[in-house]
Amino acid sequence: MEKINIPEMFGSLVFNDKVMRARLADDIYASLKKTIDENVRLEDTVADAVAEEMKNWAIENGATHFTHWFQPLTGVTAEKHDSFITPSPDGGVIMEFSGKELIKGEPDASSFPSGGLRATFEARGYTAWDPTSFAFIKDHTLCIPTAFCSYSGEALDKKTPLLRSMQAINREAKRILKLFGTDASYVKTSVGAEQEYFLVDQEMWNRRPDLKYTGRTLFGAMPPKGQEMDDHYFGVIKPRVSEFMEDLNQELWKLGILAKTEHNEVAPAQHELAPIFTTTNVATDSNQLTMEIMKKVAKRHGLVCLLHEKPFAGVNGSGKHNNWSITTDTGINLLSPGETPYENAQFLLFLCAVIQAVDDYQDLLRLSVATAGNDHRLGGDEAPPAIISIFLGEELTEILEAIKNDVPYKGKEEVNIKLGVHALPRFFRDTTDRNRTSPFAFTGNKFEFRSLGSANSIACCNIMLNAAVAESLHQYADELEGAENFENALHELIKRVIKEHERILFDGNGYGEEWVKEAERRGLSNLKTTADAMPKLLDEKNVQMLIRHKVFTEAEVHSRCEIMLENYVKTVNIEGLTMVDMVRKNYLPAIERYLYRLSQTVVLMRQVSENVKCKYEVSTMERLSELTDYIMDSVMELEEKLVVLKSIDDVFKSSAYVRDEMLPSMDKLRKYVDEAEMLTSQRDWPFPSYGQLLFSVN
Ligand code: ADP
Ligand code: MG
Repeated sequence: MEKINIPEMFGSLVFNDKVMRARLADDIYASLKKTIDENVRLEDTVADAVAEEMKNWAIENGATHFTHWFQPLTGVTAEKHDSFITPSPDGGVIMEFSGKELIKGEPDASSFPSGGLRATFEARGYTAWDPTSFAFIKDHTLCIPTAFCSYSGEALDKKTPLLRSMQAINREAKRILKLFGTDASYVKTSVGAEQEYFLVDQEMWNRRPDLKYTGRTLFGAMPPKGQEMDDHYFGVIKPRVSEFMEDLNQELWKLGILAKTEHNEVAPAQHELAPIFTTTNVATDSNQLTMEIMKKVAKRHGLVCLLHEKPFAGVNGSGKHNNWSITTDTGINLLSPGETPYENAQFLLFLCAVIQAVDDYQDLLRLSVATAGNDHRLGGDEAPPAIISIFLGEELTEILEAIKNDVPYKGKEEVNIKLGVHALPRFFRDTTDRNRTSPFAFTGNKFEFRSLGSANSIACCNIMLNAAVAESLHQYADELEGAENFENALHELIKRVIKEHERILFDGNGYGEEWVKEAERRGLSNLKTTADAMPKLLDEKNVQMLIRHKVFTEAEVHSRCEIMLENYVKTVNIEGLTMVDMVRKNYLPAIERYLYRLSQTVVLMRQVSENVKCKYEVSTMERLSELTDYIMDSVMELEEKLVVLKSIDDVFKSSAYVRDEMLPSMDKLRKYVDEAEMLTSQRDWPFPSYGQLLFSVN
């Protein structure tokens, strides 16, 4: 086997710090670094110098084009390629790229959703370089990570509000750190996003219109064997998959993405990739790239990578875990219990900030992961419920209890806890997240938000999480900055927060029916679908908080809500149309063919002998014929509903219609077709079965 030099390969297609330091003049490098670390405006002359070197480096590495790479609200990434060539007076070309082109681009992007923020006559939004995320080369193109805004400054993408939310948490956290005398010039949030996905054979995929048009199967009876034996989870990786993973890792490493672990997941054909965590906006870019590269590399291996949250009904879907923490530039993880009394008090205050944020803004976290696809997973006994709660683990819960009730903590030794005065007991850090059913779990030095669907952009939940935590910190800073006795005020504040927000803490089984009742008793929200969750974005308390921290403007909040609901409606509309198409063009004709053979057989057999019973033929025929009627009724019902859906122009009403009318009709239709699949000969069935799709990759 060809030997690869990983350290040499790593980041070889990235214009990273090492490359910048080596290639840029010292003063240019120093100004750029200041822009990156401290968000200081970049001078035009510096931008020109950076652009020149970036271009030279890119050309040396095979690039011919450049693009501003951005994340519109469609959830995928977008790019428009321009070549470096500029005509020269002698009739040839020279390769040019200016500071202006680096910093600002103007894609003609009128077809991206803007939710009314941008009238089509002023369609051109502009993209602005995010120098904190390194440029990279992909497909002979220098990709420059950018934010995408309208000319009036409204964000048209997911990156802009993410960067704003990081600024908000930086601003508020620094106020708190100052009170503790902790030395830090800035605070950043970091994220490691574990990504699940399915691999299916390209040939099989080609023959399934539902996978092609919608990313998931809309029909399919369960195979005799699913995931019940648990033999796939962490099982031996099959050779073809292992070749794919090797190839994928190398592609990601070249792009400086810290792909670290990979294993098989619970469902057959399901796998996971986890990177090493990094700064949130970089992690977001990396995750978008990872998803894109996964699809591309899969193709090279005759495979298709499915990123849909629920490609197969009855089989576990794919999620994404957003591991999140807050760190200072001096290397302190603020969610890590410390060694000294002050560090511990500081840790507990940040812990409280998260607890309060998750409780106060449950709905924002829930809606940040709401999509038509993810609705199929949440609450389905394979993923966290739609109810948001926090798992802290036994020891931390007991410590909070002790603080709340002013009683000694009975850990290894009994201690009274007076924050900031006495040392906190050195409690054992429970890094094994034993409770996999919790949507939001503390795992020793970070929180893991587990409600994300595999196809979600992680930008959305981190925007909400950062903003909500910034709000808690903002309130705490206001209160503590004015306190006469800091330690007493701190102690009282923490006690109060625990008392007021303990309803959000839950260590039990999140999948159980009991929890649904208990959560309702506690007054926690349970927003089951996107149609239920998304409108909450417009609740006054949410809008005000997001505006207060300059994460969104009022117009942006409204446009986003509309776009996300539109997405939901469009997705289900396409699914409905695909179902009708498959049923009318393929399923019904296939069943009819089989019925014809069966009935002909009966007629022929009876001609030969009066005594034949034709039990199989007749009973199958009767049931299949009955199912055909049900299928016909259901498909007509669905067609009528598709027409109604088209006539509703209010997106709140159409999304409710999707939830209440479309999806139940689609479920009904599917049920009849799946039963027919069980009764029809495989020869006549028009599409590959679940068994073929799930067990074909070796
Ligand atoms: P699991 O048990 O869920 O597989 P790990 O503890 O190995 O998890 O970590 C999963 C993810 O969490 C990885 O992407 C890892 O880089 C990330 N992670 C670890 N520490 C932090 C941190 N301090 N902040 C953010 N993410 C982190
Ligand atoms: Mg995890």
